[in-house]
Amino acid sequence: MILFKKSNNLHKWLENQREKGKSIGFVPTMGALHKGHLSLIHLTKQSADIVVCSIFVNPTQFNDKKDFEKYPITIEKDIIALSGTEIDVLFLPSVDEIYSPGSNHSEIYELGFIETVLEGSSRPGHFQGVCKVVRRLLSIVMPDIVYLGQKDYQQCMVIKKLVELMGLSGQIKIGIAPTLREKNGLAMSSRNMRLTEEEREKASIIHNTLNFIKGELRPGDLKLVKKRAMEKLQEAGFKVEYVDVANANSLQHVDNWNGSEKLVALVAAFLGNVRLIDNLVLTDN
Ligand code: AMP
Repeated sequence: MILFKKSNNLHKWLENQREKGKSIGFVPTMGALHKGHLSLIHLTKQSADIVVCSIFVNPTQFNDKKDFEKYPITIEKDIIALSGTEIDVLFLPSVDEIYSPGSNHSEIYELGFIETVLEGSSRPGHFQGVCKVVRRLLSIVMPDIVYLGQKDYQQCMVIKKLVELMGLSGQIKIGIAPTLREKNGLAMSSRNMRLTEEEREKASIIHNTLNFIKGELRPGDLKLVKKRAMEKLQEAGFKVEYVDVANANSLQHVDNWNGSEKLVALVAAFLGNVRLIDNLVLTDN
């Protein structure tokens, strides 16, 4: 594993690899790595010669300053975890390396509807921050394929849109990896480190609730099942931001299901002061 801290050096090194005919795969992360992140590296290696993983806790995507300050940073452990994988390059830029001082970083991305719902409305400015960092990372790495986790369902859609806005849809493929879960169903997440043992057990109720929605799904009105899902979470002590069922391709909210539309259920809820998100595709088509 080669470690780069400077964008120019990484860019030049990768250019050289491309000239040798090597394809590049990319896994952007914010570190505090878990098996979910490592699975992305493994999947990327199946489709690219060189796997680049970045660790960068992006300040511009945190709408809540306290959340940014509390975000876990475990670089030494991350490097040890990565050394057991098929990674070729670790990119560890500083904030100034990504957001050069003195430059204007206030560009706006026209994301349209997907930015107005769910994570978009709960975390104002979050997806603009995601686009700012991903645009910069993609320009440095210029990958053939980027692997993202379905755990961040809406983020996958936003990054697809960003790649389209950058005019790179034909050049950069996007792979979506399934969500890796703990034995109890809790989606792996860097934020789980901030949960107590007891809370980790309780947090499995999120996945149970998503499965409950899937089990109860029938064509027709979905309001009651959503209400019961909300109550399940609240009764368990979660502060729920949203539980919703949406069209899996557009994220348009669905209250009345025609029985054929592809659906996804999405949840965001706080357990104590830790914000957790998860989702489940409800239909097979
Ligand atoms: P993060 O470090 O949280 O920004 O995540 C980096 C990448 O890992 C994103 O594409 C996430 O969707 C993905 N990821 C996060 N958690 C999981 C998980 N449990 N399983 C698979 N991928 C994940």
